[in-house]
Amino acid sequence: MSLPKYNRVMLKLSGEALAGQNGYGFDFDVVSRIAMEIKDLVEMGVQVGAVVGGGNIWRGRNGAGMDRTTADYMGMLATCINAMALQNILENMGVVTRVQTAIEMREIAEPFVRRRAVRHLEKGRVVIFAAGTGNPYFSTDTAAALRAAEISAEVILLAKKVDGVYDSDPNTNPEAQKFDKLTFQEVLEKDLKVMDSTATSLCKDNNIPIIVFGLDTPGNIKRAVLGENIGTIVTN
Ligand code: UDP
Repeated sequence: MSLPKYNRVMLKLSGEALAGQNGYGFDFDVVSRIAMEIKDLVEMGVQVGAVVGGGNIWRGRNGAGMDRTTADYMGMLATCINAMALQNILENMGVVTRVQTAIEMREIAEPFVRRRAVRHLEKGRVVIFAAGTGNPYFSTDTAAALRAAEISAEVILLAKKVDGVYDSDPNTNPEAQKFDKLTFQEVLEKDLKVMDSTATSLCKDNNIPIIVFGLDTPGNIKRAVLGENIGTIVTN
């Protein structure tokens, strides 16, 4: 069996990824497949942290006319719904998990405590980080970068609908070119849509590489962890 290249990873799943083709809510077939791939990693001995987005339920910017902070807190709550769905599916597969939230909701999940999170990881539990950073005006990409730095993850696996980073939108431009490698500086200078600039800067400053890849191809999460050249890798 090939050995993993990374021993502790941060998997960022956008809300959109959980929605499958529907674009809204959950596609349980898709979530089960992702959970199965996470289970594979755990069985390989890889420590897995996961940050889930909320865009399949609510995004702060959907709240036209609403107070931005309220709309953002609604988005953070949406990520908690997703975290619970993912937790339930993983546990049904026999994977031990903990959800830790950036906003306390102790009846549902643990509050985020870095040292506890690290201990769970060391024990082979998957830790799902929910409620983003706990602050409005941020994104779950930033939460992934922040938590990755805090738990000393070696890489962020950014699972997306598209299979990497392109120089223009591949959905609208058939000539769009995919990058195999990029630096954070290039991402910022070219304003490439990988993560938002706050998340990109955090990864750059803390030297955390990102692998951007498509979630639609089964087995891609494992391929990324094994160090195969899939998608686009962004480093310093
Ligand atoms: N959000 C926030 N602070 C955070 C993380 C998320 O305010 O630290 C809110 C924000 O409104 C965002 C929503 O939660 O639009 C859902 O997160 P995101 O859009 O990052 O989810 P994704 O696009 O990954 O599904």
